Amino acid sequence: MSGRTKYLLDEDSMPTQWYNLLADLPVAPPPPLHPGTNEPIGPDDLAPLFPQALIAQEVTEQRHVDIPGPVLDVYRLWRPSPLFRARRLERALDTPARIYYKYEGVSPVGSHKPNTSVPQAHYNAEDGVRRLTTETGAGQWGSALAFACASFGVDCEVWQVRASYDQKPYRRLMMETYGADVHPSPSKETAAGRAILEEHPESTGSLGIAISEAVEQAAADDTTRYALGSVLNHVLLHQTVIGEEALRQFDMAEDTPDLLVGCTGGGSNFGGLAFPFLREKLAGRMSPVIRAVEPAACPTLTRGRYTYDFGDTAGLTPLLKMHTLGHDFIPDPIHAGGLRYHGMSPLISHLYEQGLIEAREIAQQDCFAAGVRFARTEGIIPAPEPTHALAACVEEALRCRESGEEKVILTALCGHAHLDLPAYGAYLSGAVRDNALSEEDLARSLAEVPHLG
Ligand SMILES: *Cc1c(COP(=O)(O)O)cnc(C)c1O
Repeated sequence: MSGRTKYLLDEDSMPTQWYNLLADLPVAPPPPLHPGTNEPIGPDDLAPLFPQALIAQEVTEQRHVDIPGPVLDVYRLWRPSPLFRARRLERALDTPARIYYKYEGVSPVGSHKPNTSVPQAHYNAEDGVRRLTTETGAGQWGSALAFACASFGVDCEVWQVRASYDQKPYRRLMMETYGADVHPSPSKETAAGRAILEEHPESTGSLGIAISEAVEQAAADDTTRYALGSVLNHVLLHQTVIGEEALRQFDMAEDTPDLLVGCTGGGSNFGGLAFPFLREKLAGRMSPVIRAVEPAACPTLTRGRYTYDFGDTAGLTPLLKMHTLGHDFIPDPIHAGGLRYHGMSPLISHLYEQGLIEAREIAQQDCFAAGVRFARTEGIIPAPEPTHALAACVEEALRCRESGEEKVILTALCGHAHLDLPAYGAYLSGAVRDNALSEEDLARSLAEVPHLG
């Protein structure tokens, strides 16, 4: 084994196709339903919100989808992204495990999100759309869409969850620098926002509320459409560039992962890394265990109910069969803002039901401990979200120290924390506390999940 630290692909070896897991699944996931009729939705139902190309990608059974040239041109600003072998972390843990991380923080906004915001802006621009609306929690998705819209000359309007709008002024400034308009959510601009504010004037917001606001605006105007940063099939499709590159980089390293670990908010960075490896596993060419990690404060896969629920708080979206904590669930304001969504991608939820992936929850102080350990050995300060995956990696590596097993672990390091340093400040000063979701709160929000006759 060589002593290499980075596995770098040449631009010429960047994937030119996304991989569609739906083509290889033994059992298809249940379809989204129309909230009025409870019947499966058709393409026309989505047309006010998304361009045809993305609606087609949502349901296609084609195994590979070509990445358009203008998208590849923008991808080349930072892709292929590096795969690192975490040699210094391995040494610090004194583990025989080999730990690799695929680093998406090299994108202009510091996360994996532009892998999908760029094609989404491209297809909308091609369709003559003038403005895209969206929600953002931590601000990662809003800045990714703002950047992508700037690349294709589309206007961008973002509803940012109030708590993060107040706590993260730099994310807002980043979006504004790219030319986006940013509103705190709930806002007075929309009926959904006004209804929430009337009942809860001090509301700190949620992703579900912000989605309602952005969807309402897009549905009301012909030249405006909506963009979602996670959860849907087309988003996970776009993110598979991560896993496709990582497979090639593992060839360079002459190694094969035994365990894949990723954090799951809506499931896109996890799916993007895991799906190409799952294809290899289903074809019998490798057999990694694939594990999703979520916060104890928002344990969608591990404690949510697998049922049809709305993607947003106001009930404007189609009903999605997914693991959900209830569409009006307001999670504890943990620092990993990207992991605070009440639902989980229907595709990831389906994989969990089928036993193709595992899931576990970890409390945020343990995640920050792993993040600090990682920063002090590998140098990169991880965004609060991927510290969940890192905590699971560290735990596994320490288990290998006991057993002597040379397990090969691959994790998605989906972003850096340069704009999330106050979260580390809170951890370092001892202010980060245990925040597991209580049984009472869970039962209360699950009671609001719709009952389908
Ligand atoms: C948005 C985000 C997440 C959560 O979204 P997924 O779709 O689950 O990937 C996690 N990490 C970072 C850095 C993010 O920006």
